[in-house]
Amino acid sequence: MYCAYCGLPIERDAAFCTYCGESTDPNAAPAAKRTVSDSLTPGIDSVFREDMPDVNNYLVQNILAALFCFLPFGLVGIAFSILSGLAFADGDREKAVGYADAAKAIYRCAIAVGIFFVPYVFAFVAD
Ligand SMILES: [Zn+2]
Repeated sequence: MYCAYCGLPIERDAAFCTYCGESTDPNAAPAAKRTVSDSLTPGIDSVFREDMPDVNNYLVQNILAALFCFLPFGLVGIAFSILSGLAFADGDREKAVGYADAAKAIYRCAIAVGIFFVPYVFAFVAD
């Protein structure tokens, strides 16, 4: 049979959907609503939300940029990535895309600074 909530195939006598956790008994109270904290992984959520395509929030790029390129920009970028993830979890895709765009711009700046600026600093210090 198929789950009435998410539409995925589940075992015939299952009391709860293994995918979305909703009860298969239509008379039962719905499962507790998912909180923001368990949806910082929009990639997984979007599998069940075909109307809401994934938003790349550039979290990984910003963490790498913070570690290897330019920490201050990287940290700001990480903040925007997290805001994007939270907005997505809230169902506000437009806002999530806005934050993701900012996160993308910031991590690119961090890389640019890391490539063009940091070597000069090291050269200066080494002199
Ligand atoms: Zn389900």
